[in-house]
Amino acid sequence: MSRTVDAGNSAYCAVCDELIKFRARIRAEQIICNVYAKNRWDRVEHYHPACYEEAGSPYGEPNG
Ligand SMILES: [Zn+2]
Repeated sequence: MSRTVDAGNSAYCAVCDELIKFRARIRAEQIICNVYAKNRWDRVEHYHPACYEEAGSPYGEPNG
């Protein structure tokens, strides 16, 4: 899913390893993916929207 980045956000992008920064001037967005392993929730991964696309949208099209 795609979410706006919250102030104080400290998530790192799973592709480029850079902090997904909150920027007040632009409505920065991040992709948040719930990753399941063996049908159980495993972890949450964060991506820059551009990085997610570059990776070939590994968890499908963002929605929400
Ligand atoms: Zn990135």
